[in-house]
Amino acid sequence: MSKKVIIIGAGHGGIQVVASLREEGFDGEIVLIASEKEMPYQKPPLSKGYLQDKQSEEAILFRTATYYENNNIQLRLGEEVQQVKTTEKQVVTSSGETISFTHLILATGANNRKLVLNGTEAPNILYLRTLNDAQVIAQRLESSQHIAIIGGGFIGLELAALAAEKGKQVTVIEAQTRLMERVLPAVISTTFQQTHEHNGVRICLNSHIEQISSEGIQSKEGFVRADLILAGIGVIPGDSLAQEAGIVCENGVVVNEFQQTSVPYIYAIGDCANHYNVFARKNIRLESVQNAVDQAKVAVNHILEQPQAYRAVPWFWTNQYHLKLQMVGISADFDEYVLRGEKGSDKFSVYYFKNKQLIAVDSLNRAADHLNARKLITAGISPTKTQIEDLSFNLNDCLK
Ligand SMILES: Cc1cc2nc3c(=O)[nH]c(=O)nc-3n(C[C@H](O)[C@H](O)[C@H](O)COP(=O)(O)OP(=O)(O)OC[C@H]3O[C@@H](n4cnc5c(N)ncnc54)[C@H](O)[C@@H]3O)c2cc1C
Repeated sequence: MSKKVIIIGAGHGGIQVVASLREEGFDGEIVLIASEKEMPYQKPPLSKGYLQDKQSEEAILFRTATYYENNNIQLRLGEEVQQVKTTEKQVVTSSGETISFTHLILATGANNRKLVLNGTEAPNILYLRTLNDAQVIAQRLESSQHIAIIGGGFIGLELAALAAEKGKQVTVIEAQTRLMERVLPAVISTTFQQTHEHNGVRICLNSHIEQISSEGIQSKEGFVRADLILAGIGVIPGDSLAQEAGIVCENGVVVNEFQQTSVPYIYAIGDCANHYNVFARKNIRLESVQNAVDQAKVAVNHILEQPQAYRAVPWFWTNQYHLKLQMVGISADFDEYVLRGEKGSDKFSVYYFKNKQLIAVDSLNRAADHLNARKLITAGISPTKTQIEDLSFNLNDCLK
């Protein structure tokens, strides 16, 4: 029987599945089902170039319509899969159709976590995840002057930077003691905080929101006036379909090293997939383009019976003002770090070690360090402290 692959979700993972299947010579049926009605587009520009008016909607599309036609991909836009029948190998869509598959890929991403106050969802807040959200935010940004942003993580801070660059009065409200605290050390948080403040953004740390009204935000620490409130307070995995289908889920859809779920012909990739990560040394979910793309390739190889276990070193980036931060590896449980470049400047890298082994590198405006670090960590090579600190030493020499 010839294979028929259904992919649920046309984000970064779903699109890579389609592209890899055809590039690898797969000639079976491909059905790509997307709940959003727009032609599939990239998400990172939504909080960067698109909202800065530097990239058009066309510029952020993955592919034009002719790509899907020429490659015989059935693209079903504006349709949601409402049920997965695991034993029957079928999905049921919002248009009432039942479609059969031999292999199914869950590439359903993640959904924004909503702010809840006193047991109910807080009003007057906009969240950013889709192109539609970005269009609404773009309009509201035009007409608003006082912008409050809840959450000092990547998306909140990218929004703060672009609103400040548009001349808005911006306040960032963060519950933790410093910006991006969950993923970055103080030395980097401080540089970002200083740059935001230099650009006129007010940063409120340790802040605990009590109430939200049409006038603004009341926290224990005071009142922040706002005619537009945006929030970036994390995501929850898009695993409800899988849960309802009885597929094993735990903080996302649990997968093995080939992206197979507890039902072997059903795969999960990207933001929704909970996998064992050798670089994190535990089960995690990653929310990054690179992870979605790499896991898509792993699932495709397995479907095409050329299995290659997932073993990609994770990397991620954020752009705020002139600061380009690139992160590779998982630094969470480091026991020591070494700096390359000058602390407090806007150009340095942080090398994290655990038991003398290099586990992660964050590079601020040092793209060459980032590219080198990806290779070092993948190869398990740890430069010495002296080599890292010596800017005249070429770290690529460690790879020879
Ligand atoms: C504003 C923003 C900025 C970001 N910036 C960066 C960045 O700088 N760098 C980086 O690495 N990552 C960034 N990310 C994260 C990155 O976009 C995600 O990690 C990546 O998109 C994950 O790919 P995915 O395929 O798993 O999910 P997604 O790309 O989110 O795609 C999932 C798709 O599935 C669809 N879907 C869900 N359920 C169903 C259903 N039942 N039926 C049909 N369709 C369904 C959803 O509508 C969605 O379009 C950003 C994300 C956002 C929102």
